[in-house]
Amino acid sequence: MRRWSELAEQIAATSRTSEKVRRVADYLRTLTPAELPHAVVFLAARPFPETDGRSVGLGWAAIGATTEDLADADAGAIGAAYNQSSDLGQAVHDVLLASRRRASAEPPTLTDVAAAFGAIAETRGSGAKAELFKTLLWRCDPLSAKYLVKILSGELRIGLREGHLEAAIAAAFERELAAVQWAGMLTGDIGRTAELARDDRLAEAELTLFRPLKSMLASPAADATEVLKRLGAPVWIEDKYDGIRSQLHKRGDEVRLYSRDLHDVSGQFPEVVEGARQLPWDGILDGELLAFREGGALPFQMLQARLGRKKPPADLLASVPVIFVAFDLLGFGQGSADAALTGAETGSGRVEPLLRLPLRERRDRLDALQLTEREGFGVSNLITASTTQELDTVFDGARERGNEGLMVKDPDSIYSPGRRGFGWLKLKRPLATLDCVVVGVEVGHGKRHGVLSDYTFAVRDDRPDAEGRLVTIGKAYSGLTGAELAEMTAWFKEHTLQEFGRYRLVEPTVVVEVAFDVIMRSGRHNSGFALRFPRIARIRTDKGPADADTLSTVQALHERLQGGPIEYAIAT
Ligand code: AMP
Repeated sequence: MRRWSELAEQIAATSRTSEKVRRVADYLRTLTPAELPHAVVFLAARPFPETDGRSVGLGWAAIGATTEDLADADAGAIGAAYNQSSDLGQAVHDVLLASRRRASAEPPTLTDVAAAFGAIAETRGSGAKAELFKTLLWRCDPLSAKYLVKILSGELRIGLREGHLEAAIAAAFERELAAVQWAGMLTGDIGRTAELARDDRLAEAELTLFRPLKSMLASPAADATEVLKRLGAPVWIEDKYDGIRSQLHKRGDEVRLYSRDLHDVSGQFPEVVEGARQLPWDGILDGELLAFREGGALPFQMLQARLGRKKPPADLLASVPVIFVAFDLLGFGQGSADAALTGAETGSGRVEPLLRLPLRERRDRLDALQLTEREGFGVSNLITASTTQELDTVFDGARERGNEGLMVKDPDSIYSPGRRGFGWLKLKRPLATLDCVVVGVEVGHGKRHGVLSDYTFAVRDDRPDAEGRLVTIGKAYSGLTGAELAEMTAWFKEHTLQEFGRYRLVEPTVVVEVAFDVIMRSGRHNSGFALRFPRIARIRTDKGPADADTLSTVQALHERLQGGPIEYAIAT
């Protein structure tokens, strides 16, 4: 772990990408077979591979308290150190260093650290987890402790992106970069990819049932002109459904639904699982789970009632039924179609990977499955457009139906798991904006360290007894430019009313225009509402707090946006 941490320091100190890649490649070649996968996964700032469902389950508070305990430091020492660097790993390092505690004679190896992470993940109870963590931390010198904590918090901040790591793997074992990238996408496990590269077995990475793939993502596009410039005509357009992205894997009677973060959510959607069991083939579908009743989709807020309910009760299943709207076919069970014809059992197991086929062909094969004939299934509606006018007309139509936007796809694109490429674009416009007053600010993380970039904002409570009191409705990273942020930081420092750790209560005079997608009822803010995906669009220097929007405007918007089912174009 010590050598790994030294490498991380060197990478952080190197600004040239080629140099970073070379250093990592040189290091990877020196590792033992057992160390290699852990070293690589840790360099991706993860305690476990991405497709591994485990999580260590240690919060910041537990990490901080354990460190203070080990260092014999005052309670609050970590908080104070954190305020200096805005980096938990660095804070742990600083507190341990100040304690002059001697490092143990037996520093942990990478395999020890991996085993300890596994043990902490499996242990129940925060006290027991903290004890295991303490034992691990006790064995570390301050530098190793710093990186241990950075791995746990998911951010190394050494300027090493996943692409660099793939390049380093390719260079270390003299393999084609494209082969490493493809295997990385398929396995979703960079450590396993490194092992395959080392053993010259990259070709063995393949699509496997019940091993979820990362979802292909879309890049945002500003308007129809940009869409056509990037994709060329014609393009395929689908509604952008506001549900939950999901991948359905099926073999015989066995069905699993995975969420976008690769968790198994099958238990939450028993009706979809049951419907999928009836399908006479094996395969992998990509799609969106939507609340759907009486032929219409229900807003996301309704679907929310179903989230996290491992065993949804019967009345909830009845009031918020869910369907699976498929938009892609990623794998198909060989021979299953024949099995359907002959009425034979499915379940032969193997699926043919379709990822590298153009969307056009994948869609043909999806349509051939006739999912619309099946209870609990739908298929995205496809429209073709070739001009900006056509695209704009479709977009306006989607907006009128209460839909947040469109997904535009290149019919010739392959399916790239986990990539936000230009094969798919999303075109959306914020539903509305609200003018809000900034009431609190906080220093940001990472690059925004030292800058007051996180704003808490409020609207005016215009109910009779409220006397125009400000009630908070959300918090967002400011989307302002560096210069604007610097200017606002100076201003907020001068106009701070009170400091609570990182949070500053500021004079409520600055008005910002906040764009968002949805308004929800929420107990998190004292307005009783919260905005989904709030973004600060700009500072309204032309407005004062008295011009800010009111709680009744928020209520009215909430009602309007709640109003009735969304008319999605879905073939069911
Ligand atoms: P965003 O979350 O804004 O980055 O948009 C990407 C998400 O849109 C995906 O993860 C899907 O869950 C969702 N989505 C909705 N409709 C579609 C569609 N027709 N095709 C692909 N993704 C879609």
